[in-house]
Amino acid sequence: MIHFNRAPFVGTELDYIRQAIEYGKLCGDGLFTKKCSELMKERLGTRHILLTTSCTHALEMAAFLCDLQPGDEVIMPSYTFVSTADAFVLQGAKIVFVDVHPETMNIDETKIEAAITDRTRVIVPVHYAGVACEMDTIMDIARRHHLKVVEDAAQGVNAWYKGRALGTIGDFGCFSFHETKNYTMGEGGALLFQDDAYLERAEILREKGTNRSKFFRGQIDKYTWVNYGSSYLPSDINAAYLYAQLEAFDAINEKRCWNYAYYQTHLEPLEKRGLIEQPYIPEYATHNGHMYYVKTKDLETRTRLIQWLLKERQIQCVFHYIPLHSSPAGLRYGRFSGEDVYTTKESERLLRLPMYYGLTEEQLKYITDSFLAYTGY
Ligand SMILES: *Cc1c(COP(=O)(O)O)cnc(C)c1O
Repeated sequence: MIHFNRAPFVGTELDYIRQAIEYGKLCGDGLFTKKCSELMKERLGTRHILLTTSCTHALEMAAFLCDLQPGDEVIMPSYTFVSTADAFVLQGAKIVFVDVHPETMNIDETKIEAAITDRTRVIVPVHYAGVACEMDTIMDIARRHHLKVVEDAAQGVNAWYKGRALGTIGDFGCFSFHETKNYTMGEGGALLFQDDAYLERAEILREKGTNRSKFFRGQIDKYTWVNYGSSYLPSDINAAYLYAQLEAFDAINEKRCWNYAYYQTHLEPLEKRGLIEQPYIPEYATHNGHMYYVKTKDLETRTRLIQWLLKERQIQCVFHYIPLHSSPAGLRYGRFSGEDVYTTKESERLLRLPMYYGLTEEQLKYITDSFLAYTGY
């Protein structure tokens, strides 16, 4: 069986977890939490980065820091994971969904301004598959309308927009280190921001509403409850696993991009014959091989192909994102701005192929040969 995903393992994880245990501080903000933050600051050029327990929690922190009032509106694509919306719904915000570009499945920036009302406060671009949204345009719209931008860069770690790391362009960026993402700590994430003004509030939010972070730095001699907050700080054991992965920052990226290129080359004959569509990377974007997908003719073709691959070839391919605006919670908490031209139609055709660091060339060949052998397109 070729699984859709296997968590990356580079070999040094166990040694680092042992070191974390021997160091004697298993809770958050220990040795490896700091090492991870420093490494990412240097590699990504971010001024601030705080490890969190998940990307969902990083998004929640960003939503808190946007200071929303009930009834405020937040613009995002409907084609995304539920957490993108959940974080803002928890603040009482109303979600306004905007259609996607069919060729990248990213929010269509040309349709954002029509969705803006006097209640709009935030735009949330989601960098789908680690392929950047058109950030210059989005940042310009945000500036002109005094809106905040929260980048959902869960899939965009070590992916770039015109030379800038995804997650470092908006007011806030949110990473995921879930086991299905490029770099992992099992469950985990990070909140990125460039403005020093957010640091104290963010640290307090993450530490149960206390100023414990300041205490650890020796800036105060006892810590206390100073505001509301929650527990968004991951264990240093998890950070130790992540540090091993981050040390292999380039190797993991290169392998995933190599997988992507293999698929792109070997499935091209099917696209040439008009049987599938392959993904497209805009010129401004440097992707990170987070995902490889193809689009089939329609939903029925995709369903049959998934079943055939699993039954006849033991290859696990998956689809995702039932558009949020048509889900029960989406109907309750959101509305679609303009017409759903592509979101539903394109989401029904999209099929994700196995993609992970440990995938071998032999497996890739077997997968692409299977796609070529299938006759039911
Ligand atoms: C994975 C993912 C998330 C959630 O990440 P967690 O770390 O599991 O909370 C959010 N948004 C997008 C686009 C994702 O792909």
